[in-house]
Amino acid sequence: MLNLFTRTTDITPAPYPAKERSLRIVLAGAGALGSAVLYQLTKLRPAWLTSVLLVDPDQLEERNIALSRFFQQAASSQGQSILTKPKAEVLSAVINDSATFSCEAEVREIADVGWQRLREADMLLCCADDPLARLETAQAARALGLPLIDIGVFGGEELHRPAGRARVTYFAPDNLAACQLCGLREDRRAELLSFAATRSPGCRPLRAPESLGQAAAPPPAIEAAATVVTEIIEDFISYSESDPRYRHSWTVNPAHGDHLPHAPRHLLTRSISCPWHEDEPGGLIALEDDRQLGDSLHAAAPDQHWRIQLAWPVCMEAQCRHCGTVQRTAQRLAALRRSGGCMHCGVTGEMEPRRIVSSLGTQDAEASLTPMELGLPRSHMARLRRVISLGSAS
Ligand SMILES: [Zn+2]
Ligand SMILES: [Zn+2]
Repeated sequence: MLNLFTRTTDITPAPYPAKERSLRIVLAGAGALGSAVLYQLTKLRPAWLTSVLLVDPDQLEERNIALSRFFQQAASSQGQSILTKPKAEVLSAVINDSATFSCEAEVREIADVGWQRLREADMLLCCADDPLARLETAQAARALGLPLIDIGVFGGEELHRPAGRARVTYFAPDNLAACQLCGLREDRRAELLSFAATRSPGCRPLRAPESLGQAAAPPPAIEAAATVVTEIIEDFISYSESDPRYRHSWTVNPAHGDHLPHAPRHLLTRSISCPWHEDEPGGLIALEDDRQLGDSLHAAAPDQHWRIQLAWPVCMEAQCRHCGTVQRTAQRLAALRRSGGCMHCGVTGEMEPRRIVSSLGTQDAEASLTPMELGLPRSHMARLRRVISLGSAS
Protein backbone atom coordinates (compact mmCIF):
# COMPACT_ATOMS: atom_id res chain seq x y z
CA MET A 1 0.00 0.00 0.00
CA LEU A 2 2.90 2.35 0.66
CA ASN A 3 3.80 2.22 -2.97
CA LEU A 4 0.30 3.17 -3.91
CA PHE A 5 0.38 6.20 -1.61
CA THR A 6 3.69 7.31 -3.01
CA ARG A 7 2.37 7.10 -6.52
CA THR A 8 -0.81 8.89 -5.55
CA THR A 9 1.16 11.72 -4.03
CA ASP A 10 3.28 12.07 -7.12
CA ILE A 11 0.47 12.07 -9.63
CA THR A 12 -2.36 13.97 -8.04
CA PRO A 13 -2.28 17.61 -6.99
CA ALA A 14 -3.98 18.12 -3.63
CA PRO A 15 -7.50 19.40 -4.35
CA TYR A 16 -8.30 19.90 -0.70
CA PRO A 17 -9.62 23.05 0.92
CA ALA A 18 -7.20 23.05 3.85
CA LYS A 19 -5.73 26.45 3.14
CA GLU A 20 -8.97 28.39 3.26
CA ARG A 21 -10.14 26.39 6.24
CA SER A 22 -13.72 26.75 5.21
CA LEU A 23 -16.11 24.15 3.95
CA ARG A 24 -19.24 24.10 1.85
CA ILE A 25 -21.12 20.83 2.00
CA VAL A 26 -23.72 19.21 -0.22
CA LEU A 27 -25.78 16.71 1.77
CA ALA A 28 -27.94 14.23 -0.13
CA GLY A 29 -30.74 12.72 1.95
CA ALA A 30 -32.76 14.76 4.45
CA GLY A 31 -34.16 11.82 6.45
CA ALA A 32 -33.32 10.73 9.98
CA LEU A 33 -29.63 10.23 9.21
CA GLY A 34 -29.11 13.51 7.32
CA SER A 35 -30.99 15.29 10.06
CA ALA A 36 -28.79 13.74 12.77
CA VAL A 37 -25.60 14.75 10.96
CA LEU A 38 -26.89 18.31 10.65
CA TYR A 39 -27.89 18.29 14.31
CA GLN A 40 -24.33 17.36 15.32
CA LEU A 41 -22.93 20.05 13.06
CA THR A 42 -25.20 22.77 14.50
CA LYS A 43 -24.25 21.70 18.04
CA LEU A 44 -20.60 22.09 17.14
CA ARG A 45 -21.16 25.64 15.78
CA PRO A 46 -18.14 25.31 13.50
CA ALA A 47 -16.69 28.58 12.25
CA TRP A 48 -15.30 26.76 9.20
CA LEU A 49 -18.65 25.51 7.90
CA THR A 50 -20.12 28.19 5.66
CA SER A 51 -23.03 26.50 3.92
CA VAL A 52 -24.97 23.28 3.42
CA LEU A 53 -26.99 22.48 0.33
CA LEU A 54 -29.58 19.90 1.32
CA VAL A 55 -30.84 17.71 -1.54
CA ASP A 56 -33.89 15.46 -1.15
CA PRO A 57 -36.92 14.98 -3.42
CA ASP A 58 -39.31 13.55 -0.82
CA GLN A 59 -42.07 14.91 1.36
CA LEU A 60 -41.95 14.56 5.12
CA GLU A 61 -43.83 11.54 6.45
CA GLU A 62 -45.10 10.78 9.91
CA ARG A 63 -42.48 8.05 10.47
CA ASN A 64 -39.62 10.53 9.86
CA ILE A 65 -40.64 12.74 12.77
CA ALA A 66 -39.93 10.36 15.65
CA LEU A 67 -36.37 9.76 14.42
CA SER A 68 -35.25 13.37 14.16
CA ARG A 69 -34.91 16.10 16.77
CA PHE A 70 -35.21 18.75 14.06
CA PHE A 71 -38.43 17.30 12.66
CA GLN A 72 -39.83 17.03 16.20
CA GLN A 73 -38.91 20.67 16.74
CA ALA A 74 -40.67 21.67 13.51
CA ALA A 75 -43.71 19.55 14.37
CA SER A 76 -44.08 21.09 17.81
CA SER A 77 -44.04 24.62 16.43
CA GLN A 78 -45.96 24.09 13.17
CA GLY A 79 -48.10 21.02 13.87
CA GLN A 80 -49.43 18.63 11.23
CA SER A 81 -48.95 21.18 8.43
CA ILE A 82 -45.31 20.12 8.05
CA LEU A 83 -46.48 16.76 6.69
CA THR A 84 -47.35 18.40 3.37
CA LYS A 85 -43.86 19.87 2.99
CA PRO A 86 -40.64 18.52 1.50
CA LYS A 87 -38.18 17.15 4.08
CA ALA A 88 -35.32 19.31 2.78
CA GLU A 89 -37.36 22.51 3.19
CA VAL A 90 -38.58 21.68 6.70
CA LEU A 91 -35.05 20.84 7.79
CA SER A 92 -33.36 23.85 6.22
CA ALA A 93 -35.92 26.21 7.82
CA VAL A 94 -35.18 24.81 11.31
CA ILE A 95 -31.43 25.00 10.72
CA ASN A 96 -31.50 28.55 9.40
CA ASP A 97 -33.24 29.60 12.61
CA SER A 98 -30.44 28.41 14.83
CA ALA A 99 -27.24 27.43 13.02
CA THR A 100 -24.07 29.38 12.40
CA PHE A 101 -24.06 28.26 8.76
CA SER A 102 -26.66 28.74 6.04
CA CYS A 103 -28.70 25.86 4.73
CA GLU A 104 -30.43 25.78 1.37
CA ALA A 105 -32.90 23.14 0.14
CA GLU A 106 -33.03 21.53 -3.31
CA VAL A 107 -36.21 19.48 -3.59
CA ARG A 108 -35.10 17.08 -6.29
CA GLU A 109 -32.99 14.00 -6.81
CA ILE A 110 -29.23 14.52 -6.64
CA ALA A 111 -28.93 13.50 -10.32
CA ASP A 112 -31.19 16.45 -11.19
CA VAL A 113 -28.96 19.05 -9.52
CA GLY A 114 -26.65 20.78 -12.01
CA TRP A 115 -22.97 20.07 -11.60
CA GLN A 116 -22.07 23.77 -11.75
CA ARG A 117 -24.02 24.00 -8.50
CA LEU A 118 -22.46 20.90 -6.91
CA ARG A 119 -18.99 22.00 -7.98
CA GLU A 120 -19.22 24.98 -5.62
CA ALA A 121 -19.06 22.53 -2.71
CA ASP A 122 -15.89 21.22 -1.09
CA MET A 123 -17.37 17.92 0.05
CA LEU A 124 -20.39 15.71 -0.57
CA LEU A 125 -22.17 13.79 2.16
CA CYS A 126 -24.59 11.03 1.29
CA CYS A 127 -27.22 10.07 3.86
CA ALA A 128 -29.72 8.67 1.35
CA ASP A 129 -30.91 5.11 1.92
CA ASP A 130 -31.86 4.58 -1.71
CA PRO A 131 -29.04 2.67 -3.48
CA LEU A 132 -29.49 4.53 -6.74
CA ALA A 133 -29.37 7.95 -5.03
CA ARG A 134 -26.14 6.84 -3.33
CA LEU A 135 -24.67 5.77 -6.65
CA GLU A 136 -25.71 9.06 -8.27
CA THR A 137 -24.09 11.03 -5.45
CA ALA A 138 -20.92 8.96 -5.78
CA GLN A 139 -20.82 9.54 -9.52
CA ALA A 140 -21.10 13.32 -9.10
CA ALA A 141 -18.30 13.20 -6.51
CA ARG A 142 -16.03 11.29 -8.88
CA ALA A 143 -16.82 13.46 -11.89
CA LEU A 144 -16.25 16.69 -10.00
CA GLY A 145 -13.23 15.46 -8.01
CA LEU A 146 -14.91 16.01 -4.64
CA PRO A 147 -14.39 13.96 -1.48
CA LEU A 148 -17.47 12.01 -0.42
CA ILE A 149 -18.59 10.68 2.95
CA ASP A 150 -21.22 7.99 2.54
CA ILE A 151 -23.18 6.98 5.62
CA GLY A 152 -25.41 3.96 6.09
CA VAL A 153 -27.25 2.38 9.00
CA PHE A 154 -27.57 -1.38 9.13
CA GLY A 155 -31.05 -2.78 8.89
CA GLY A 156 -33.19 -5.72 9.74
CA GLU A 157 -33.62 -6.84 13.34
CA GLU A 158 -30.37 -5.12 14.30
CA LEU A 159 -32.17 -1.83 14.06
CA HIS A 160 -34.23 -2.45 17.13
CA ARG A 161 -31.30 -3.27 19.38
CA PRO A 162 -29.76 -0.53 21.44
CA ALA A 163 -26.38 -0.97 19.80
CA GLY A 164 -27.42 -0.82 16.16
CA ARG A 165 -24.67 -0.67 13.63
CA ALA A 166 -23.59 2.02 11.26
CA ARG A 167 -21.07 2.36 8.46
CA VAL A 168 -19.28 5.55 7.50
CA THR A 169 -17.11 5.52 4.39
CA TYR A 170 -14.76 8.21 3.18
CA PHE A 171 -14.15 8.16 -0.58
CA ALA A 172 -11.10 10.10 -1.72
CA PRO A 173 -11.51 11.95 -5.02
CA ASP A 174 -8.25 10.45 -6.25
CA ASN A 175 -8.55 8.36 -9.41
CA LEU A 176 -6.44 5.63 -7.81
CA ALA A 177 -8.62 5.44 -4.70
CA ALA A 178 -11.58 3.10 -4.40
CA CYS A 179 -14.93 4.62 -5.34
CA GLN A 180 -18.35 3.54 -4.18
CA LEU A 181 -18.86 1.42 -7.27
CA CYS A 182 -15.58 -0.42 -6.56
CA GLY A 183 -17.06 -1.69 -3.29
CA LEU A 184 -20.13 -3.29 -4.82
CA ARG A 185 -20.23 -6.90 -5.90
CA GLU A 186 -20.13 -7.16 -9.67
CA ASP A 187 -23.70 -8.40 -9.96
CA ARG A 188 -24.97 -5.60 -7.74
CA ARG A 189 -22.95 -3.06 -9.74
CA ALA A 190 -24.42 -4.38 -12.97
CA GLU A 191 -27.92 -4.30 -11.52
CA LEU A 192 -27.64 -0.67 -10.45
CA LEU A 193 -25.93 0.54 -13.59
CA SER A 194 -28.35 -1.28 -15.84
CA PHE A 195 -31.30 0.24 -14.02
CA ALA A 196 -29.91 3.70 -14.66
CA ALA A 197 -28.23 3.20 -17.95
CA THR A 198 -29.39 0.46 -20.24
CA ARG A 199 -32.29 -0.02 -22.57
CA SER A 200 -33.09 -3.57 -21.49
CA PRO A 201 -36.56 -3.87 -20.02
CA GLY A 202 -35.17 -5.94 -17.12
CA CYS A 203 -36.16 -3.21 -14.75
CA ARG A 204 -37.69 -4.88 -11.74
CA PRO A 205 -38.25 -2.45 -8.90
CA LEU A 206 -35.06 -1.56 -7.12
CA ARG A 207 -34.81 -2.79 -3.53
CA ALA A 208 -32.56 -1.48 -0.86
CA PRO A 209 -29.86 -4.07 -0.11
CA GLU A 210 -30.35 -5.93 3.14
CA SER A 211 -27.66 -3.94 4.89
CA LEU A 212 -29.71 -0.78 4.50
CA GLY A 213 -33.06 -1.69 5.95
CA GLN A 214 -36.21 0.28 5.30
CA ALA A 215 -37.39 -0.01 8.88
CA ALA A 216 -36.95 2.75 11.39
CA ALA A 217 -33.33 2.96 12.42
CA PRO A 218 -32.60 3.41 16.11
CA PRO A 219 -31.26 6.68 17.35
CA PRO A 220 -28.10 5.06 18.86
CA ALA A 221 -26.81 3.81 15.49
CA ILE A 222 -27.80 7.01 13.76
CA GLU A 223 -26.17 9.14 16.42
CA ALA A 224 -23.01 7.06 16.46
CA ALA A 225 -22.78 7.55 12.69
CA ALA A 226 -23.53 11.28 12.91
CA THR A 227 -20.90 11.77 15.64
CA VAL A 228 -18.23 10.00 13.63
CA VAL A 229 -19.12 11.93 10.46
CA THR A 230 -18.72 15.19 12.34
CA GLU A 231 -15.36 14.03 13.71
CA ILE A 232 -14.18 13.06 10.24
CA ILE A 233 -15.18 16.45 8.83
CA GLU A 234 -13.43 18.27 11.69
CA ASP A 235 -10.35 16.15 11.18
CA PHE A 236 -10.50 16.66 7.43
CA ILE A 237 -10.67 20.44 7.76
CA SER A 238 -7.68 20.53 10.10
CA TYR A 239 -5.54 17.91 8.40
CA SER A 240 -2.18 18.76 6.93
CA GLU A 241 -2.03 18.61 3.19
CA SER A 242 0.47 15.78 3.23
CA ASP A 243 -1.81 13.58 5.32
CA PRO A 244 -2.23 10.39 3.33
CA ARG A 245 -5.42 9.38 5.12
CA TYR A 246 -7.49 11.56 2.84
CA ARG A 247 -5.82 10.32 -0.32
CA HIS A 248 -7.35 6.89 -0.16
CA SER A 249 -10.76 5.49 0.70
CA TRP A 250 -11.65 3.78 3.96
CA THR A 251 -14.60 2.78 6.04
CA VAL A 252 -15.32 2.77 9.77
CA ASN A 253 -18.07 0.92 11.62
CA PRO A 254 -18.77 3.02 14.68
CA ALA A 255 -20.70 1.44 17.49
CA HIS A 256 -22.65 3.61 19.88
CA GLY A 257 -20.28 5.74 21.91
CA ASP A 258 -17.33 5.07 19.63
CA HIS A 259 -15.30 8.00 18.54
CA LEU A 260 -13.13 8.31 15.50
CA PRO A 261 -9.76 7.63 17.18
CA HIS A 262 -11.05 4.28 18.48
CA ALA A 263 -12.87 3.09 15.39
CA PRO A 264 -10.52 1.06 13.19
CA ARG A 265 -10.39 2.22 9.58
CA HIS A 266 -10.67 -0.45 6.95
CA LEU A 267 -8.84 0.49 3.79
CA LEU A 268 -10.82 0.04 0.59
CA THR A 269 -9.01 -1.06 -2.50
CA ARG A 270 -9.86 -0.05 -6.00
CA SER A 271 -11.54 -2.66 -8.16
CA ILE A 272 -9.78 -3.32 -11.45
CA SER A 273 -13.11 -3.93 -13.17
CA CYS A 274 -14.71 -0.70 -11.95
CA PRO A 275 -15.61 1.52 -14.91
CA TRP A 276 -15.36 4.83 -13.04
CA HIS A 277 -11.58 5.29 -13.19
CA GLU A 278 -10.96 5.91 -16.86
CA ASP A 279 -8.74 8.81 -17.67
CA GLU A 280 -10.85 11.38 -19.43
CA PRO A 281 -8.58 13.67 -21.40
CA GLY A 282 -11.46 15.87 -22.54
CA GLY A 283 -12.49 16.99 -19.08
CA LEU A 284 -15.72 18.71 -18.19
CA ILE A 285 -17.44 21.60 -19.94
CA ALA A 286 -20.08 23.88 -18.46
CA LEU A 287 -23.34 23.85 -20.38
CA GLU A 288 -25.23 27.13 -20.77
CA ASP A 289 -28.95 26.75 -20.11
CA ASP A 290 -30.15 28.55 -23.25
CA ARG A 291 -27.44 27.48 -25.65
CA GLN A 292 -27.79 24.58 -28.07
CA LEU A 293 -25.70 21.62 -26.95
CA GLY A 294 -24.05 21.36 -30.38
CA ASP A 295 -22.88 24.98 -30.01
CA SER A 296 -21.39 24.31 -26.58
CA LEU A 297 -19.64 21.23 -27.95
CA HIS A 298 -18.35 23.06 -31.03
CA ALA A 299 -16.97 25.89 -28.90
CA ALA A 300 -15.19 23.54 -26.48
CA ALA A 301 -13.96 20.67 -28.65
CA PRO A 302 -10.71 20.93 -30.59
CA ASP A 303 -12.18 19.06 -33.59
CA GLN A 304 -15.19 17.05 -34.74
CA HIS A 305 -13.95 13.84 -33.09
CA TRP A 306 -15.38 14.84 -29.74
CA ARG A 307 -18.77 14.10 -28.23
CA ILE A 308 -20.66 15.21 -25.17
CA GLN A 309 -20.97 12.28 -22.79
CA LEU A 310 -24.02 12.56 -20.53
CA ALA A 311 -23.62 11.65 -16.87
CA TRP A 312 -26.76 9.54 -17.05
CA PRO A 313 -28.65 8.50 -20.20
CA VAL A 314 -31.81 10.27 -21.22
CA CYS A 315 -34.87 8.58 -22.68
CA MET A 316 -36.23 10.58 -25.61
CA GLU A 317 -39.14 8.31 -26.47
CA ALA A 318 -41.01 5.78 -24.37
CA GLN A 319 -44.09 3.62 -24.86
CA CYS A 320 -46.64 2.70 -22.23
CA ARG A 321 -46.83 -1.08 -21.81
CA HIS A 322 -50.34 -0.66 -20.46
CA CYS A 323 -52.08 1.37 -23.20
CA GLY A 324 -49.47 1.62 -25.96
CA THR A 325 -49.23 5.42 -25.98
CA VAL A 326 -45.88 6.77 -27.17
CA GLN A 327 -44.47 9.73 -25.22
CA ARG A 328 -41.70 11.95 -26.52
CA THR A 329 -40.60 13.84 -23.42
CA ALA A 330 -36.92 13.84 -22.60
CA GLN A 331 -36.43 12.33 -19.14
CA ARG A 332 -33.51 10.83 -17.28
CA LEU A 333 -33.76 7.07 -17.78
CA ALA A 334 -33.53 6.15 -14.10
CA ALA A 335 -36.24 8.69 -13.22
CA LEU A 336 -38.47 7.30 -15.97
CA ARG A 337 -37.99 3.76 -14.67
CA ARG A 338 -38.49 4.72 -11.07
CA SER A 339 -41.47 7.02 -11.32
CA GLY A 340 -42.30 7.71 -14.98
CA GLY A 341 -46.02 7.78 -15.66
CA CYS A 342 -48.14 7.57 -18.79
CA MET A 343 -49.83 10.87 -19.58
CA HIS A 344 -52.64 9.02 -21.35
CA CYS A 345 -53.71 6.26 -18.92
CA GLY A 346 -51.97 7.53 -15.79
CA VAL A 347 -50.29 4.21 -14.96
CA THR A 348 -46.78 4.62 -13.50
CA GLY A 349 -43.75 2.36 -13.83
CA GLU A 350 -44.89 0.90 -17.16
CA MET A 351 -43.02 3.16 -19.57
CA GLU A 352 -40.78 1.16 -21.89
CA PRO A 353 -37.86 3.23 -23.21
CA ARG A 354 -37.65 3.19 -27.03
CA ARG A 355 -34.94 5.75 -27.74
CA ILE A 356 -32.08 6.53 -25.37
CA VAL A 357 -29.33 9.14 -25.72
CA SER A 358 -26.09 8.74 -23.75
CA SER A 359 -23.82 10.95 -25.82
CA LEU A 360 -24.11 13.38 -28.69
CA GLY A 361 -21.99 14.89 -31.45
CA THR A 362 -22.46 18.05 -33.51
CA GLN A 363 -24.07 16.03 -36.32
CA ASP A 364 -26.73 14.42 -34.13
CA ALA A 365 -30.35 15.58 -34.03
CA GLU A 366 -30.01 16.35 -30.29
CA ALA A 367 -27.25 18.88 -31.02
CA SER A 368 -29.93 21.50 -31.72
CA LEU A 369 -31.49 21.05 -28.27
CA THR A 370 -30.75 23.09 -25.18
CA PRO A 371 -29.74 21.17 -22.03
CA MET A 372 -33.24 21.46 -20.62
CA GLU A 373 -34.85 20.28 -23.84
CA LEU A 374 -32.70 17.18 -23.41
CA GLY A 375 -33.99 16.74 -19.85
CA LEU A 376 -30.71 17.84 -18.20
CA PRO A 377 -30.55 19.89 -15.00
CA ARG A 378 -30.04 23.65 -15.01
CA SER A 379 -26.41 24.83 -14.75
CA HIS A 380 -25.14 21.42 -15.68
CA MET A 381 -21.81 20.19 -16.96
CA ALA A 382 -20.88 17.38 -19.29
CA ARG A 383 -17.83 15.34 -20.04
CA LEU A 384 -16.12 15.56 -23.41
CA ARG A 385 -15.23 12.22 -24.92
CA ARG A 386 -13.01 11.69 -27.90
CA VAL A 387 -14.36 9.25 -30.44
CA ILE A 388 -11.70 6.94 -31.75
CA SER A 389 -12.79 6.81 -35.33
CA LEU A 390 -11.72 4.47 -38.11
CA GLY A 391 -14.34 5.76 -40.48
CA SER A 392 -17.25 5.16 -38.12
CA ALA A 393 -18.28 6.97 -35.00
CA SER A 394 -19.24 5.07 -31.90
ZN1 LIG B 1 -14.43 2.46 -8.69
ZN1 LIG C 1 -50.61 4.32 -20.75
